[in-house]
Amino acid sequence: MTALPETTLAVGGERRVPVPDPIARDYVLLCLRLDQRAPGLVDGYYGPADLKAAVDQEQLRPPGTLADDAAALRARLDAEVDEPDRRGWLAVQLTALETQARVLAGADVPYVELIRRCFDFEPVRRDEAVFEKAATGIDELLPGPEPLADRLAAWDAGLVVPPERALVVLDWLVEVVRERAAASVGLPDDERIRVRLTRNQPWTGYNWYEGGRRSRFDVNTDLPIRAPDLIHLAAHEAYPGHHLEHAWKEVELVERRGRLEASVLMINAPECLLSEGLADLGHEIVSPAASEPDLLVELFRRAELPIAADPVASRDIAERAVALAPLRRRLQESRVNAALMRHADGRPHDEVLRWLIEVGRFAPDVAAKRLEFIEHPLWRAYVFVYHDGEALLRAWLDAVPPADRPAAPRGARPAAAPPPRDRRRRRRARAGAR
Ligand SMILES: [Zn+2]
Repeated sequence: MTALPETTLAVGGERRVPVPDPIARDYVLLCLRLDQRAPGLVDGYYGPADLKAAVDQEQLRPPGTLADDAAALRARLDAEVDEPDRRGWLAVQLTALETQARVLAGADVPYVELIRRCFDFEPVRRDEAVFEKAATGIDELLPGPEPLADRLAAWDAGLVVPPERALVVLDWLVEVVRERAAASVGLPDDERIRVRLTRNQPWTGYNWYEGGRRSRFDVNTDLPIRAPDLIHLAAHEAYPGHHLEHAWKEVELVERRGRLEASVLMINAPECLLSEGLADLGHEIVSPAASEPDLLVELFRRAELPIAADPVASRDIAERAVALAPLRRRLQESRVNAALMRHADGRPHDEVLRWLIEVGRFAPDVAAKRLEFIEHPLWRAYVFVYHDGEALLRAWLDAVPPADRPAAPRGARPAAAPPPRDRRRRRRARAGAR
């Protein structure tokens, strides 16, 4: 007979979670205290209510003390944590937390070093030739005498979802990707997500994980929403992206293994590299390129786009949109160089904005929104996690033979990481241990 784990009330007052061990308790306290100094660093918290209440009521700790707390907690891991994967995950997370506390305390950490310590990986500047090559590919798919930026803008304008249709289309699309994710990676019991439109945010979409297998998925309508982007957004934020990732982690890590450190989600930490990489990789799991034109044609119809009235044109546009997607994603990667130009090289705002428009081929309003994210105090380091996180997970997935990947829809377990091949891979594998 196995004793049931001792439980405690979770935030929200409706659920119970296992009582954290001393390491998880001190980790959660540190995260919540950091969030008081830099609101937004905690992306979500669904752990013990008493820890949140204690932090809300205590006197604020100076950031330098929080940095020392992080270092002291990391020094305890070898003696207090038996499982190597848990120990490795906590070590790299705590390095990120300590770094952020030191920055809050006024330490001058060079930008590239900041990325290294926050995400446990080495940022790499892209060769501009990859953006030129992508632009040439787009040029071939959207031929015409006008400048490429104008052709892209005209193409996008024909695909904008009317604001009054956005919510109903999103609700439908989230259900589509949910069913597909259920068939491929499985869903925990009783998970749920709701979609909401919002404004005045530096991001396009955001999944707020609330615990109890619930999320709120916010979509920012500051910029026009293009129909093809909605599929990526739904896969990224909902299924099999952030919502499903956090729901499974709540079941597997928090409830089953009692790893309460997983009940707090931190921004600017190695977990983000995995979370964003997984969310971006999720698109092809629920909507492979081969079948995506069918989904897009249906999406155009439900969004009541004018092109939906002509089935032949609608199909042609859907197929070209799917062909354009990887080229445009490659251009999106120019954000990585823009962040390094702005923060590592100290280039002025206007110069980086011009570069995003000229080399990244962003429309001026989109370039301004992307640079707003890069310059945001909370998000200035974050832009790397998408492309590099996806590349990291793709390499990990490719190294696992298909037969060894989880196949059972329910109770699916993440496949074991492949054995490390070199130091770089080992460093990365540690970051992926949760
Ligand atoms: Zn994301």
